[in-house]
Amino acid sequence: MRAGTATAPSVRGAALVSAGVVGAVVVTVIARAHPGGAVAVAAAFSGIVAVLTGAVLVCGAGRVEGMRLASVFLGVAMVCWGVGQLVLGGEAAVHEPTFPTAGDLLATVSAPFGVTGLLLALRPRSLRSHWARMTLDSLLLSSSAGLLLWRLVYRSVLLHGGLRAAALLPLAIVLIEVTLVAVLLLGWLRELDRGRLLALVGFAIYAAADGYTLRAVAAGHPWPWAAAALWCVAWPLVGEGVLRLRPAEQRSDGHAEETRVTLTTTVVTLTVLVGAVAAFAADPYTDGVTITLAIAIITVFGVREGHAGVQRGRMLRSLTHQALRDPLTALGNRRALSRRLDDLVAAEGAVLTLDLDGFKAVNDLLGHARGDDLLVAVARCLDRALDPDCAAFRVGGDEFVVVVPGPAGRDRHLAHALLGQLRTVADSVPGALAVGVSASIGIARWGEGAVADAVVESGVALHAAKESGRDRVENYDGPVAAEHRRSLDVERRLRAAVRAGDLDVHYQPVLRLASGSVVGFEALARWVDPLLGRVTPDEFIPAAERCGVIADLGFQVLRRALLDLPTLDRSAPGAHVAVNVSPVQLRSTSFAADVLQLLAQTGVEPERLIVEVTESAFVGEDAGELHQLQQLRARGVWVAIDDFGSGYSALAYLSRLPASTLKLDQGLTAHLTTDPRALAVMRSIIDLGLALPLEVVVEGVETPEVRDVVRSLGAGYVQGWLYSPAVPIEQVAEVVRALSGPVTAGRVDGS
Ligand code: C2E
Ligand code: CA
Ligand code: CA
Repeated sequence: MRAGTATAPSVRGAALVSAGVVGAVVVTVIARAHPGGAVAVAAAFSGIVAVLTGAVLVCGAGRVEGMRLASVFLGVAMVCWGVGQLVLGGEAAVHEPTFPTAGDLLATVSAPFGVTGLLLALRPRSLRSHWARMTLDSLLLSSSAGLLLWRLVYRSVLLHGGLRAAALLPLAIVLIEVTLVAVLLLGWLRELDRGRLLALVGFAIYAAADGYTLRAVAAGHPWPWAAAALWCVAWPLVGEGVLRLRPAEQRSDGHAEETRVTLTTTVVTLTVLVGAVAAFAADPYTDGVTITLAIAIITVFGVREGHAGVQRGRMLRSLTHQALRDPLTALGNRRALSRRLDDLVAAEGAVLTLDLDGFKAVNDLLGHARGDDLLVAVARCLDRALDPDCAAFRVGGDEFVVVVPGPAGRDRHLAHALLGQLRTVADSVPGALAVGVSASIGIARWGEGAVADAVVESGVALHAAKESGRDRVENYDGPVAAEHRRSLDVERRLRAAVRAGDLDVHYQPVLRLASGSVVGFEALARWVDPLLGRVTPDEFIPAAERCGVIADLGFQVLRRALLDLPTLDRSAPGAHVAVNVSPVQLRSTSFAADVLQLLAQTGVEPERLIVEVTESAFVGEDAGELHQLQQLRARGVWVAIDDFGSGYSALAYLSRLPASTLKLDQGLTAHLTTDPRALAVMRSIIDLGLALPLEVVVEGVETPEVRDVVRSLGAGYVQGWLYSPAVPIEQVAEVVRALSGPVTAGRVDGS
C-alpha cells in the first residue's frame, strides 16, 4: 500500500509529461509537413492533452487531503479548455476560423474554474494575514510586466489602427494571466516545493503561449501552431504539479517569509522596469497605454509602501505592547513598572509589593495550570480594586507591585482592602481554597526619597511581613521591617569589616575550680562598627553565617588567638586558648587541614588549642563534620562541646564525638539557684561528663552562690562574669593577676 502510493506519482508524472512531449512533437511534425492543416491538428492535439490531463486531475483528486477541491476545479478547467481547442480544431478543419470562435468561448468558460482552482491550491488560509500585501505585490509585478510586454511585444501590432478598446482585449487577457503567475509566484514563494514549481512553470509556459497567440492573431498572422506545441507541454506540467501539492506546513517565522516575498517583488519589479525603461529609451513614443500603466505602477507602488509603513507601525506598537505586558495576566511587567516610575508626576505616594502565601503549594499540589489560574484571578482582583490613578504590575512569579500616588493613609487602606479581597480569590480556583492562599504586602512611601528606593524598600517590608507570619501588611517604617533593615545593614557592613580585618578578639579566662587558677582563655570575637556602634556576637555571628563570611571571620579570630598565645602564656603559663567554630565552617572539607596549617605557621603546639563546637553541627548525621574533628583530634587538638544542655543534647553524640570537654550552657547556670529542675539537669550532665570521662566547664557563673553549687556538683572548671568578662589582650595580665591575688596567691597551677 505504502509502496503503491510512493511509486504511483512518479509513474503518473512520467506518463503525463511524456504524453505532453509526444503531443508537442506530433504537432510540430505535422504542422511542418502540412502547413495547411496545421491549425486543426495543433488545436486538436493540445485539446487532447488538456482533456487527458484534466481527467487525471479530477480522478486523482481524492488523494491529498486539503487539495481535493483545487484539483477538481483545475481538472474541470483543463477539460473545458481542451474541449474548446478540439472544437477550434474541428472548425479549422472545415474552414479558416474567424476569431473569436466557439472554441475560444469554451476556453473562456474554463477561466473562472482555473482561477478558483489555482487560488485554492495556493491555500489562501496561509495568506489571510497577508492578502493586502499579496494583492499589491501581484499588481505591481503584473503592471510592470505589462508595461514591458506592451513596449516590446504588443504596441507595434495593437496600435496600428489607433487605440481601440477591442484591440486592447488581448493585452487585457495577457495582463490577467501575468497577474495570476505573479500571485502564484508570491503565494508559493513561502513554501516552494517541487509540485508548486512544476505547476508554476507549466502555467507560465501556458501564459507565454497564450500571449504569443494573441499577439499573432491581433497582428493578423495565421494562428500559430507553435503555441499549441507549448500548450501540450504546459498542461501536463501544471497537472503533475497540482497532483503533487501538499498543504503547506505552518511556518513559524512569518516575518522572515514576508521579508523574502517583499524583497522578491522589489527585485523582479525593478528588473522588469529597467527592461521597460530600456525599451522606452529605444522607442520614446508615448501613448495612452504606456501612460496608464506607468501611472498604475507608481500608484500601486505608493499604496504598497504606505501599506508597509502602516504595517510596520502596527507591528512596532504591538511589539512594544508585548514587551511591556505580562502575557499571562495582561498586567504591566517589570519594564512597564520602571517606565511608570520614570513618568510619575505625583510628588508623593506609596509602592505596595504583594506576594502570595502558599502559591508554591498550589503549583506543587494542583499543578501549574491551576497556579496560572490563580495568578490571573489575582490580577483581576487587583484590576477591580484599584482606582484609575493606581497601577498594578506583575514583577515575578507570584509577586505584584501596585503604585499608589497620593498622601499617606490611602496606601494602608488599599493594602488592607486588598488583603481581604485576596483571601477570597482562592474561591474562584478549584482546589486552591483547601491549600490555603493569602497574601503578604509590604508598603514603602516615596516623597523626599526616590521612587526607585521605595520599590526596594517595599520589598524589604514584604519580606518582613512574610517572616512575621504572612497574611499581613507591613510598613517599611514599622518595627519588623526595621529589624529586617537592621539585619541587612549588619550583613552589608560586616562583609566590609571582615574584608578589612576590622574585628577584635577578647579573651575570657577559664578557671580550675579546685585551685582557682586560670587554665585557659576563650577567644571571643568583638566588632565595633563606626556607624552601627558595638554589635554583639549573637547578632553578627548569625549574620556572618547568612552572608557567607563566617569562615573568614573564624580564621581571623583563630589566627589572632594563636598569635596572642605567647602573651596569654606570660600571664598564665601553659594556658590553652579556646576558639569557637561555627557549624558552617566545619562543613568545609579543608577545615582541619587549614587549622593545622595555621598551627604550624604560628608554631603553636596543637595541644594548646581547643575548638568549641555546638551540637547543632552534628544534627544532620553528616560524617564530614565528624571527620574534620577526628583529624584535628588525631593531631592533638582538643575538642569541646559548647552550649551543652541548650539544644538537642542527644546523648548518643557524646560517645561518638572525639570530644575532651563539655561546656554547660549558661542558660542552665542562670537558673541553677532558682529552678530545681535546672539543678537536676545540671547534676546529671556533670555526672555523665565525669563518667565518660570528659572535662566539664560550667559557663555563665555570675555569683558566688552559683559557684558554690557548681562546686558541690563536682564540675572541674568555670567561666563567667564572677571572675572576668572577656577583655582585650592588653587587660589579660591585670585580670589574671587580680584573679590569682587574694584567693589563690602563689598557687597558680599551670598544668
Ligand atoms: P559562647 O561560645 O557560649 O560564648 C560565651 C558567651 O557568654 C560570650 O558571649 C561571653 O561574653 C558570655 N559570657 C561570659 N561569661 C558570662 C556570664 O557570666 N554571664 C553571661 N550571661 N554571659 C557570659 P559573646 O562574646 O557575646 O558571644 C556570644 C556567642 O557568640 C558565643 O557564645 C559564641 O557562640 C559566638 N561567638 C563569639 N565569638 C565567636 C567566634 O569567634 N566564632 C564563632 N563561630 N562564634 C563566636
Ligand atoms: Ca564558646
Ligand atoms: Ca557557650
